[in-house]
Amino acid sequence: MPHVVIIGRPNVGKSTLFNRLVGKKLALVDDQPGVTRDRRFGDAELLGLAFTIVDTAGWEDDDPSSLPGRMRAQTEAALEGATVALFVIDARAGLTPLDEEIGRHLHESSVPVVLLANKAEGRAGDSGLFESYALGFGDPIAFSAEHGEGLADLFQALLPLI
Ligand code: GDP
Ligand code: MG
Repeated sequence: MPHVVIIGRPNVGKSTLFNRLVGKKLALVDDQPGVTRDRRFGDAELLGLAFTIVDTAGWEDDDPSSLPGRMRAQTEAALEGATVALFVIDARAGLTPLDEEIGRHLHESSVPVVLLANKAEGRAGDSGLFESYALGFGDPIAFSAEHGEGLADLFQALLPLI
């Protein structure tokens, strides 16, 4: 089964996306960053496409000021066994230095990356969506994990990769 691994800084909506794709509340979601403790695996189904979805949270327990130094190792660990990386950013927050750091490490890996601009419901995510082109992963998918928007675009992006 292909493994689609969700990667992104804390609080961008990774676990909400995981739950959306699994359709069950397997991953804990909370308003506070740092709730998910481990990698979680779920059987995902997206418009007939079946894959294993992996929610990552390796760096969420830690002091954010010490994150950048360990980001490369964390990203590499998360990418182990990955068929595709789903790189999630928060379109409402715009790009942050941590997003850029994760993006640099993803560029060093050979795993294909699909960029997902989450929290893009309404128009509140428009500027973050445009900013995210600077990450160099092509067109971002405007997405809302909470509202289930962008699922067909995600399907289109994953189809040739898995
Ligand atoms: P994680 O730390 O990346 O796993 O993020 P979570 O999935 O725990 O979500 C963090 C916060 O963002 C929670 O309050 C979610 O309800 C919220 N969130 C997740 N997806 C969306 C979305 O599509 N739109 C909005 N507005 N909020 C979202
Ligand atoms: Mg989480």
